Amino acid sequence: MAVKALKFGGTSMANAKSIAQVRDVVIADKEARYVVVSAPGKRDSSDIKVTDLLISLYEAEKSKKREIMDIIERRFTDIISGLALDVDFSSEFDKIYSNAMSGASYDYIVSRGEYLSAKILAPFLGYEFIDATEIIRFKKGVLDSEETQKLAYARFAQTKKAVVPGFYGLDEKGEIKAFSRGGSDITGAIVARAVHAYIYENWTDVDGFMVCDPRIVKDPAVIEMVTYRELRELSYMGASVLHPEAVFPVNVAGIPINIRNTFHPEAKGTMIVKYEDILRGKFKRKENVITGIAGSKHFVGIFLEKQMLNNEVGYCKALLDVLYENNISLEHMPTGIDTVTLVIDPVEDSVLAEAVATIKERCNPTTLEVDKGLALIAVVGHGMSRMKGTAVRVCKALSEADINIRMIDQGSSEMNIIVAVEDADYEKAIQSLYNEFIK
Ligand code: ASP
Repeated sequence: MAVKALKFGGTSMANAKSIAQVRDVVIADKEARYVVVSAPGKRDSSDIKVTDLLISLYEAEKSKKREIMDIIERRFTDIISGLALDVDFSSEFDKIYSNAMSGASYDYIVSRGEYLSAKILAPFLGYEFIDATEIIRFKKGVLDSEETQKLAYARFAQTKKAVVPGFYGLDEKGEIKAFSRGGSDITGAIVARAVHAYIYENWTDVDGFMVCDPRIVKDPAVIEMVTYRELRELSYMGASVLHPEAVFPVNVAGIPINIRNTFHPEAKGTMIVKYEDILRGKFKRKENVITGIAGSKHFVGIFLEKQMLNNEVGYCKALLDVLYENNISLEHMPTGIDTVTLVIDPVEDSVLAEAVATIKERCNPTTLEVDKGLALIAVVGHGMSRMKGTAVRVCKALSEADINIRMIDQGSSEMNIIVAVEDADYEKAIQSLYNEFIK
């Protein structure tokens, strides 16, 4: 029988009402057999996520821990009574509190939100509870995919319906180890792969990925289908609905991800698929030139000029060495005959000053200018490859909006064009590109 893995995020698990909606989604779907959950998130914009409360519990002095633990306990007891569930968490709470008082690790404490969340959803759905400690292993600080896959595969073979807490597993010493924030998405992907799901549904509180930032463009369209590669290009520039590491376990297994909205289950959401599967006709989408537009501000441009630069062997290497020594990440490096531009991630002033001084000393440029206010915008889509005129349209849209392009870069994959504009032009640039390609 076809099987789905579903992951519900923090807002879906935030209170009794939203958890009842989670149940509606699961019950309505016979294929929805393996469920991963986050800890309860914010009930409204001024609320605090349980994971953040747990971090405060860990960080607080001993004398303050009781007060914070009470708030955490109330979050869960409100949910339990709201769902009229017959479960008693007093011994779970006592254990967490006494462990917190006796110096339990950060990873153990932060993982308890997901643990209790799953302990609620499992009986509420009538599903088995499988602890993440049974299936997820870390080695040397990172996920041990092979061992995890083996354990998870064997464990799920014994159960038809289960709820698993997201976000953590065990390290080689048998201690709890958590993923980075948002890591329940990774657990969901691991479970999807282990149960051979044909789809990994990631249920959140938005209808899917937007074509661009809704804080800039009013009501942008939802992307119906995006490829893993396009998503990489888009997420790298700041669109964050899904943990980037969640892509790997399902991508290798060829399982598509479907981003869905618990509070608007009628919406189809965004499908994330392999490009090859579109080419092979397994998935169909309306072929737009552009799939999405994403960007971010405050990059730094270091513009260098030196006579006869193109004859100098090793000049770029010397520049990159300086970045490497100062732990600075390079985004782009367009070059001219006698010029090089380094576009780097935002860095502290002191680090930038040190790097610039070393470049002047070692590389001896005729001119060197630094601009700390660059915005990078990626216009992304497989639809543009092997097609003429996309760069023209990007430039025309920006020029008509009276925006100067400081840099332009197109990778050889031809699936993205990256432009740099002044920070002040960023929002206007996104809007004009949206109008040109999507509206
Ligand atoms: N609860 C964790 C966080 O807030 C993990 C997750 O929800 O994915 O980051």
